[in-house]
Amino acid sequence: MLDHVSPSIQEAVVVMPEVTRTGRSTLVVHADREVHPSGAVAPPIYQSATFAADDADEFARVALEPRGKDFYTRYGNPNHAQVAAIVAELEGTEAALVTASGMAALTTAVLALVSAGDHVIGQKSTYGGTASVLLNLLPRLGVATTLVDQGDPGAFAAALNRNTRLILLESPSNPLLQITDLRAVADLARAHGVVTMADNTFATPINQRPAEYGIDLVWHSATKYLNGHSDVSAGVLAGPTRLLDRVWDTAILTGAVLGPVDAWLLLRGMRTLPLRMSRHNANGQALAEALSGHRAVARVHYPGLPSHPQHDLAKCQMSGFGAVLGVELAGGYAAADAFLGRLRHSRRAASLGGVESLAVHPAAMWRGMLSDTQIAASGVPSGLIRLAAGIEDAADLVHDALAAADSVIEYEDSPTRPKEPVS
Ligand SMILES: *Cc1c(COP(=O)(O)O)cnc(C)c1O
Repeated sequence: MLDHVSPSIQEAVVVMPEVTRTGRSTLVVHADREVHPSGAVAPPIYQSATFAADDADEFARVALEPRGKDFYTRYGNPNHAQVAAIVAELEGTEAALVTASGMAALTTAVLALVSAGDHVIGQKSTYGGTASVLLNLLPRLGVATTLVDQGDPGAFAAALNRNTRLILLESPSNPLLQITDLRAVADLARAHGVVTMADNTFATPINQRPAEYGIDLVWHSATKYLNGHSDVSAGVLAGPTRLLDRVWDTAILTGAVLGPVDAWLLLRGMRTLPLRMSRHNANGQALAEALSGHRAVARVHYPGLPSHPQHDLAKCQMSGFGAVLGVELAGGYAAADAFLGRLRHSRRAASLGGVESLAVHPAAMWRGMLSDTQIAASGVPSGLIRLAAGIEDAADLVHDALAAADSVIEYEDSPTRPKEPVS
């Protein structure tokens, strides 16, 4: 097989142990190749709502195939299957399921896995949509929920009861970048027959693979890093086929199906995921280090900083720390607002994980959505900015952020610091 290559290369190839896993940059380029083979080097867009079968047997077979690709697009489309093949390889799971958004991935899985009378455990620090599912949607459907402090594995154990069916994790969490001990919670859940499901949006499978620690289902807002270009809303769930088959039975009923063009764009975005993540990781680290020494900054929340209270745990379960950081301005709400207004390269927009830097002021964004008591209960300081670095040059982002921080020093020093509207 290797006759055509030089002896030294033959030796190098043969000496490599066979267990060597294909690298992630290779997987994102090739792992979908056999899913729907065609001679086209760039995969075609299967812009078709339905697919014809040759005979009755074939029709019956494709209709029943979980997460199939040749029956009806709500049941699965070749472009979904291509995305799923890559995500499953990256996450190290048996399979994956593509949905219309991250929230569709979450709600579909939750509706598939729990029923009235069951109990679900989630984290206090978690994405806003996930918090609403735990606090509003599930209780309305007769499912009890308990929110715990993710930094304390004992809190998960204490929250378990005999009706607990599901534990929802998020690490690092939004927007305080707190870390959950994935292995500890997975072990606890396994021992009690409880399913675990982790939101891996912030880390991506390049930085962290929850399945390696025993987490059952991994989900993403593929709107963020996986797609990476802020031009698609999509979601994905990765896990064992026995669980994904159950979720798929519900997915065809909720019908939150990703359009073929969006699946194709997501596929194209994922080709560069490892490349983008190495730049995102470097930019996140550079910004966190530069801002953490600044007078106007009370604290930088970033798992890659030794000052992060869970830095050691983060180092154990992550190979990079991403590009989202919580920058807590010493001057509170007004300083955060002014800092955000002074940033030139980071625009004021929800979302993260795209090539461009974005920033939000959670306390300001939530003012219309949550009561003051809910904001206070979230533990998110009113002077916090969530900065999500893109793939711009680190020097430009650092220079821009330091200039913005310089501009709000007086907020800290002012004896008449503006009254914080939210506390
Ligand atoms: C954006 C986001 C979601 C929701 O995903 P959508 O694609 O917007 O539905 C869930 N979790 C995290 C951590 C997110 O950042």
